[in-house]
Parts: sequence; structure tokens; C-alpha cells
Amino acid sequence: MNAWEVLGWAYDADLHCEGCTHKRFGHEPGEDDEDSEGNPVHPIFASDEFEQSEYCGDCGGVIYELDEEDSEEDSEGEEA
Ligand SMILES: [Zn+2]
Repeated sequence: MNAWEVLGWAYDADLHCEGCTHKRFGHEPGEDDEDSEGNPVHPIFASDEFEQSEYCGDCGGVIYELDEEDSEEDSEGEEA
């Protein structure tokens, strides 16, 4: 996966996959595009840091899935 790969877009106070974003704007959003609140539309890059899994606010598709293996190992150790 390329660090600069766009995973999705942030607008309307939520994250959205590329498919739903293209449906809404009709094209890949640029600097001139705004969401319904007049805010700029931000791309979500693969290099961004996520604290939790992120899903599309429209279709529920996965935008970023957190690797949960590490956290599971940690909790097992703490419980024992
Ligand atoms: Zn979607």
C-alpha cells in the first residue's frame, strides 16, 4: 500500500469511501469543493494515523481497518 494512497474523504462531519464521494461530487474532490457546511473536503491518506477503524458514513464500507492483533496480545497479558 502506498503511503499517499487516498483511502477516503472527510466531509459532512464524517468519513466517506471513494465510491460514495464520487457519487456525491461526481468527481474526485478538489480544492474548490465544499461539503454541505461549506467546509473543505479533506482526503484521507494511507499514511495518516488512526486510533480506531474507520468506516464510510454512507455505505459502511471499510476505509481503514485497525490491526487488532497487537491490542489483543496486550490485554491477554494484563488479565493474567
Ligand atoms: Zn461508501
